[in-house]
Amino acid sequence: MNIAKILEYQKLDLVIYKADRDYVNSNENKKYQAVRANIIEITESLIKLDKEAADIFADIEKLKTLLDAFVKKSKSTPLTGAKTLDQADKLDETIGALDSELNGLDKELQKSFKRLNEISREAKELSSKYAALKVELKKVEELRKQKRTEIINSINKEGNLLNEMKETMDPKDLAIYSRARAAKVKMPIVVEYKDGHCAACGMEIKSEVENKLQNPGDIAECPNCRRIVYKK
Ligand SMILES: [Zn+2]
Repeated sequence: MNIAKILEYQKLDLVIYKADRDYVNSNENKKYQAVRANIIEITESLIKLDKEAADIFADIEKLKTLLDAFVKKSKSTPLTGAKTLDQADKLDETIGALDSELNGLDKELQKSFKRLNEISREAKELSSKYAALKVELKKVEELRKQKRTEIINSINKEGNLLNEMKETMDPKDLAIYSRARAAKVKMPIVVEYKDGHCAACGMEIKSEVENKLQNPGDIAECPNCRRIVYKK
């Protein structure tokens, strides 16, 4: 590998890498991501409420079927005509049982309606929050774009130089470097091997790399941090 050249290339690339980090960590980008996360959260809550409402409607349908059955049963149950005290007692029992069944169904129904009302209120609140956040998102997105343009402009020179350099470099060297960059090896990627150690992570790597670094331009991979090491 042409070490001098790749180091020069790396120096330019480092400026671009730092600009990229600056952009990712900028308040403009963070604010945008936060608003987006909020919108996603609210959307999820609305979907959950929608699903709950659908379940409640299904429950109400079931209760209606039960109520229909109850009405039929009530109609076919004779509730008058007791001739003896014993029969009157029995009738009271029947009426009591029907009443408590109706009360039970009614309670269930009231509970469902109450929750539906709450859901409707919650959904309304969430919807207005959602609308406000959408407006906010537009604003922060604009600021984020401005920041991006500002950062891209600030590294314009380095970007052009980097592209020019690419033309003059050994494609093999460039491929090795780009592969490491894409694999998210920490920057700087190409570092010195010194006194048996990786100069970046500090690990003792003599037994692994010493014999690979015999001639100028030889490179090896640090087994600890995966950086490309060379010997001066
Ligand atoms: Zn290392």
